[in-house]
Order: sequence, then structure tokens, then C-alpha cells
Amino acid sequence: MTKRVLAIGEVIVEIMATSLGRGFSEPIALVGPFPSGAPTIFIDQVARLGVPASMVGAVGNDDFGLLLRERLACDGVDIVGLRSIQHAATGSAFVRYRPDGDRDFVFNIHDSAAARVVLDEKTRSVIAQCHHVHIMGSSLFSPQMVSVIQAAVDDVKKRGGSVSFDPNGRKEMLDKPGMRDALMGFLAQTDLFLPSGEELTALTQAQDEAGALAELLDLGISAVVIKRGGAGASYCDRQTRIDVPGLKVNEIDPTGAGDCFGATFVACWLTGRIPEECLRLANASGAMAVTRRGPMEGTASMVELEAFLATRMIEMNT
Ligand code: ATP
Ligand code: MG
Repeated sequence: MTKRVLAIGEVIVEIMATSLGRGFSEPIALVGPFPSGAPTIFIDQVARLGVPASMVGAVGNDDFGLLLRERLACDGVDIVGLRSIQHAATGSAFVRYRPDGDRDFVFNIHDSAAARVVLDEKTRSVIAQCHHVHIMGSSLFSPQMVSVIQAAVDDVKKRGGSVSFDPNGRKEMLDKPGMRDALMGFLAQTDLFLPSGEELTALTQAQDEAGALAELLDLGISAVVIKRGGAGASYCDRQTRIDVPGLKVNEIDPTGAGDCFGATFVACWLTGRIPEECLRLANASGAMAVTRRGPMEGTASMVELEAFLATRMIEMNT
């Protein structure tokens, strides 16, 4: 039986500036709404690969919420656990890229429907059908979100299931009261850890890559997968280390690459593929994601990923 994957967290829309610049302090052209939210992109990519996938989250009873529900359902995500809340607005993020690649955001998440995830009977029954939970650091933005995700992790682990964890957050997040303890608690229950850049050492004593890897594996984590943007990715467990270079692509929009990468790695890992294959396909998934405008527009099916990799092989050999 294929294992069912669960993501819990922010289900939001993204609206992006069409020009480079700083912030939103004057009227500018925008494009959107696009479906977004790190756990939302993740679960959509899992479903696109044909692996059973469920989302627990909340949207408002408005057009943004409708767009999100329709897109997730259309891509095969089970949305029984996605609540529609009357008189609440769907969460949103306005994004503008600066000329140096940095981004400015205006978020409406904490006070939106996206934050109103509750551990009611419906949520519990969705959790009970899942065998793997993916934690996104960006979803741990309130004690309530932490407690729902903790309940899911506890339930899945108790039944012999597994957990993946993408810290997916800025370092400043660690300054929030109780956040470091919550993250360390999740890390101790994690089977697959998927940090990128400085996230690798954010929770370890060691500040170098080798030391941090040893420390993480000593916690009982089965494997650490390091995302390196355009430079590719690495897989490390107690016996193996595998590195893949980044695939050369025309980067249009980097948002969502890490989420697609993680989803593809987890989906392949759960279906029993060897680490090298998981890494190769995840690397392709992250590369494909950056070639599309919109955070979730670069998700791909297995046929698309394999075709993309095949064209790369032909290009390399000619
Ligand atoms: P996010 O901004 O989505 O949180 P992240 O920091 O978690 O991203 P990245 O390292 O940026 O993750 O990207 C994840 C993976 O996607 C990389 O490890 C790589 O495999 C692929 N990837 C990302 N950017 C590029 C690129 N410009 N060219 C080729 N592959 C890329
Ligand atoms: Mg990320």
C-alpha cells in the first residue's frame, strides 16, 4: 500500500509585482492570485507524482479560498481537512523582487483564515489516515499551529509512520519564545531532514557542515538532504554521501523550488526508490520549479520530470 502523506499549515495566495524594485509604497502592476504557502506547494507536488496526499489547513469563504480548493483538488490532493471559514479572509502574500534577488513581502497570514487550523474531529480523522507527516518551519508561526502539527507527528509516529522536516525559515524565527525548543523537539522525531543553506547549522552546536551532519545523524535522523539552490543538492546518511550538481535552467522565479524538491524527494523515498534516484528526481523537480512564474506553477508529474531529465542527458551528450 502506498503511504499517504500529510502536510499541515498555511494555505494562501501569492500576488506578485511584475517589475523589480523595493516594496509596495506606491501603486505598481501586480499579477496573481497564485496558489501558494510552503506546505501547500509541497503537498500539491506530492499529489502530482501520484502519491496519496492530504492537506490540513484553512481558507476563507472567498474567491481566493475557492481558487485554492479547486487547484488542490484538481491536482489530486485530499482537501477534506481544508476548512472554509465564513467571514474570514484567505491568507495572502504580496511579493516583490529587488534587483539583487532579495524579496520584500506584505503578509496577511497570522490574522487570516490560514492561521485558524484546529484539532477537531475532522482533522483527527484526516491525520489517522496518513503514514507520513511533513513539517514546514514556516507553518510553526503560532502555538496553535505547533500543537496541531505536534499532535499529527505523535499520532503518525505511534503507528510506525515517518516524519520529514524542512526548517524553511529565517534565522530570526528562532528568537521567538519557545521556538528553538519546538524545533528541537520536532528534529528529535524527524526521519528525513531537508535544510537549505544556513538552515543546516541553525539548530546544531557545530557550525561546519561535517560537524552539523554528524550531530543531526546522532539525534536519530535517518538522512539529511541539503538543498543548494542552483548548485544542486546532497544526500547524507550514516553510510552514504551523494552530491548532484544543479541542472542548468533559465530561472524565472525561485519561489517554491525547495518545496517541490522536498516533495519529490519524500514521495520517491516513501515509494522505496534508492536515495540516488530520489535525489536526482528531486533536483530535477527544484530546477523545473524555477522555470515557471508563480510559486506552485512549476509542480510536475513523474512523466514530466523524467522527460525533463532525459532531455538534459541528450543535451549533455551532444
Ligand atoms: P525556497 O525559496 O523554495 O524555500 P530553498 O532554499 O528551500 O528554496 P533551494 O536550495 O533554493 O531551496 O532549491 C531547492 C532545490 O531546487 C535545489 O537544491 C536544486 O536542486 C533546485 N534548484 C533551485 N534553484 C535552482 C536553479 N536556479 N537551477 C537549478 N536548480 C535549482
Ligand atoms: Mg525552503
